[in-house]
Amino acid sequence: MKSSNRCSVIIVGAGISGISAAKVLAQNGVEDILILEASDSVGGRIKKHNFGNISVELGAGWIAGVGGKEPNPVWELAAQSGLRTCFSDYSNARYNIYDRSGEIFPSGVAGDTYKKAVESAIEKLRTDQDSLLAADVSDVPKLSTIPKTPIELAIDFILHDFEMAEVEPISTYVDFGEREFLVADERGYEYLLYKMAEEFLFTSDGKILDNRLKLNTVVRELQHSRDGVTVRTEDGCVYEANYVILSVSIGVLQSPLISFIPHLPRWKTEAIKKCEVMVYTKIFLKFPKKFWPCGPEKEFFIYAHEQRGYYTFWQHMENAYPGSNILVVTLTNGESKRVESQSDQETLREAMEVLRNMFGPDIPEASEILVPRWWNNRFQCGSYSNYPIYANPQMVENIKAPVGRIFFTGEHTSERFSGYVHGGYLAGIDTGEALLEMEKLDREKNNNKSILSLTLSHTEAIGGLQTCDIHSHTHLFHGNTKREAIS
Ligand SMILES: Cc1cc2nc3c(=O)[nH]c(=O)nc-3n(C[C@H](O)[C@H](O)[C@H](O)COP(=O)(O)OP(=O)(O)OC[C@H]3O[C@@H](n4cnc5c(N)ncnc54)[C@H](O)[C@@H]3O)c2cc1C
Repeated sequence: MKSSNRCSVIIVGAGISGISAAKVLAQNGVEDILILEASDSVGGRIKKHNFGNISVELGAGWIAGVGGKEPNPVWELAAQSGLRTCFSDYSNARYNIYDRSGEIFPSGVAGDTYKKAVESAIEKLRTDQDSLLAADVSDVPKLSTIPKTPIELAIDFILHDFEMAEVEPISTYVDFGEREFLVADERGYEYLLYKMAEEFLFTSDGKILDNRLKLNTVVRELQHSRDGVTVRTEDGCVYEANYVILSVSIGVLQSPLISFIPHLPRWKTEAIKKCEVMVYTKIFLKFPKKFWPCGPEKEFFIYAHEQRGYYTFWQHMENAYPGSNILVVTLTNGESKRVESQSDQETLREAMEVLRNMFGPDIPEASEILVPRWWNNRFQCGSYSNYPIYANPQMVENIKAPVGRIFFTGEHTSERFSGYVHGGYLAGIDTGEALLEMEKLDREKNNNKSILSLTLSHTEAIGGLQTCDIHSHTHLFHGNTKREAIS
């Protein structure tokens, strides 16, 4: 096995956290970095797709938390990049609830059911807290209201899987504001990443052409010692670095994709195991014409069914893209996994049956369907982290803490904003800064000899990594063998 050239820092994953970490390093003069990305593009869970002649967002779609006392950094990036966005308000969805015969529930009924559900959710949170504190679980009072009817189940789904997926107070809203904006730009949400990368990687014509970014490069093993980290990839290459920043999702950390030699310590693996993974799936349907209401406060609508979460939450794309004739239905967790495992044709059949129940038998058949599969994507294994209610703050600390020279970043390492794009962005910045701090301490221990190559020019850095490319082709793998509930 030939050894590759060593670089200062290898960043595993080119999502928003990986790119923001890399940017911090570059801004501090660390240019001999290498970004290894398993998929064929940057962005990770920020991913556009051309569907029905428009650009739809398979992953993150909203900039959440705008208009508050502090500016959301992602909203600022969007403003600097001129990203087109569209104000989005789903609080009216509860007044557009359809039953199986296509009738809309009267607003009084919907409003009362919603109020009761909120009271019940607050009661549930208290019960959960009590059961954590109680010595004997049988002492904890049972919940008085369990959703049973289709409208109760639909509202429960909206509350728990969307509005109250986090325990109040929600840091994103407290810090950055309660408004949400849907990204509606042909260049996609991912354009923000490109604009960030432009500041430190070589780019041309909207493409990143820098050898320090390697796409289609799946990291399978991290061998770490006091001296550095050896990274082995699925195509048999070996890379060496003084430090590694690992930005893969919590789902990937829970999966066997990446091995660590020596094994990660128990405090780390236990914390990783305890963090929940949410699956969130937006299914896109293209129609030859509109058949749904499009006036004010009609962007979102709800289907009430006896199976919780069964094609419940709908959105039309007319506000973002007038004339696009596209509907989006959002599924979560068990329903997401069920739909991922069946054919798109079967999903289309189910979705059309639901739409015919709501809008009548004469509506046209969808001409296209798009079903993203975040759960079954081995480079994601889910959509985002969801810390269990009343998670111990130590658990988040342990997920984030470095192990030797391996640093952990990504939305799941953000104490205040896990699950969000701005969580990933800010986590990357924190991790980049923490690495620089550790390097400073290492350097002091090492009589001021820098471990990072702070003085390499851009061109020298690219040249060095090309050599690394040529000298590292030993095949190691033969086959192709993952809210704010923190009190
Ligand atoms: C369907 C969906 C909807 C969402 N909606 C919103 C929203 O509206 N608003 C919001 O703020 N947030 C939303 N989110 C969450 C948001 O997208 C994420 O929090 C954020 O993008 C995570 O960024 P990250 O850098 O932490 O991880 P990622 O973007 O996942 O980046 C990690 C990268 O590591 C790569 N990787 C994995 N394994 C390996 C390996 N072995 N070797 C090399 N590379 C590897 C992956 O391919 C990926 O590119 C949504 C997410 C999903 C999936």
